[in-house]
Amino acid sequence: MAFKPANNIQDLQYFGEFGGVNPSISDASTYTFLSAKTMFDTFEGNADGCYLYSRHSSPSNLYLGEALAAMEGTETANVSASGMGAITPVLLQLCGAGDHVVSSRTIYGGTYAFLKNFAPRFQVNTSFVDITNLEAVENAITKDTKVLYCESVSNPLLEVADIKGLAKIAKRHHLKLVVDNTFSPLTISPAILGADVVLHSLTKFINGSSDTVGGVVCGTQQFIDDLRNVNNGASMLLGSTMDSLRASSVLKNLRTLHIRIQQHSRNAMYLAKKFEEDGLKTVYPGLTSHPSHELFKSMMNETYGFGGMLTVDVGSLDKANDLMEMMQGKNLGYLAVSLGFYKTLFSAPGTSTSSEIPEEEQQDMGLSDGLIRFSIGLDADIERTYQMMRSCMENLDILDLELGCKTQH
Ligand code: PLP
Repeated sequence: MAFKPANNIQDLQYFGEFGGVNPSISDASTYTFLSAKTMFDTFEGNADGCYLYSRHSSPSNLYLGEALAAMEGTETANVSASGMGAITPVLLQLCGAGDHVVSSRTIYGGTYAFLKNFAPRFQVNTSFVDITNLEAVENAITKDTKVLYCESVSNPLLEVADIKGLAKIAKRHHLKLVVDNTFSPLTISPAILGADVVLHSLTKFINGSSDTVGGVVCGTQQFIDDLRNVNNGASMLLGSTMDSLRASSVLKNLRTLHIRIQQHSRNAMYLAKKFEEDGLKTVYPGLTSHPSHELFKSMMNETYGFGGMLTVDVGSLDKANDLMEMMQGKNLGYLAVSLGFYKTLFSAPGTSTSSEIPEEEQQDMGLSDGLIRFSIGLDADIERTYQMMRSCMENLDILDLELGCKTQH
């Protein structure tokens, strides 16, 4: 039977202390014990159902972790205070001095900066490769490689990783395949396709209301226990803990994720088709022109579409900035980084979320100045949105046919 991630979330049942339909929020940083022995056992991780201190674990965080593990089809999960608070401990848990990472070269700028600039302080070095070229990936593996790292759908270029193919390579070389699934929750289920560890920035689609940052690591019980180990667990010791109040609010938002993702995808598909017809260089995994359209189709949980992210290249940074300001002026969305909000968000990644990547490397990977990354919102009337966006583009001569032809490939 096909994997149904939203059913797995829905089938979980929690009650509050007084029979509430939502679990009670654990509003405490520390917990009392009737016996000193149970306190010791809890500290050692040997007393199921007992809590010691909320950096270690808390009921609210465990509920959210359980729901996210159900969504990703992993044994369990550990939530954290941010996406980076999930990513960095995973990499530091899996790699020590002398170890090596093979990573996709198109990843979120913060992850890139961590691997490129920060991890070498601990003698962990990274080779950045074109993740769509499995031969290049395999060639970059050395005897010291421990981790293969990618995003299912990459930020910002929307390159699609062949997770099954990468999982085979990882297995052959005894590596851990770590996949950031922030751009494609519900749509792609990396663990089902063979990933060892699945990460999310909960800040984006999963929470969906742009009111908090958060992260999660989904994996085996053993790996999550390792991350939480009080003596040498990177999540425990680096201390990026989510607050219980936040965990509870993210859990409530998670329950509508399946509806939101379908609407984000429908709206993004509509706009991507229209922009492409207008001659704009548009990248969206749902378009047959996307180089990995078929691959995406082979991996996706169909109900959820191709996701809410698309990019359009309008030729130059000046044009991109003018268009984004004009669209914001017409209340078509916000000139803002991040994604997964009910409003459309747009930004020029070269000068914002990917600015950590040096200019020459941006050019090499195809990140051009005029690229606008759109996180398409939940607009009720996407046709009206399109007409208004089109009129902004016409005003700025962006739909000039000559430019359309030049940028089309
Ligand atoms: N992964 C991806 C794909 C992202 O886009 C981001 C943030 O933009 C992160 C991870 C980092 O998440 P956070 O900002 O929640 O730390």
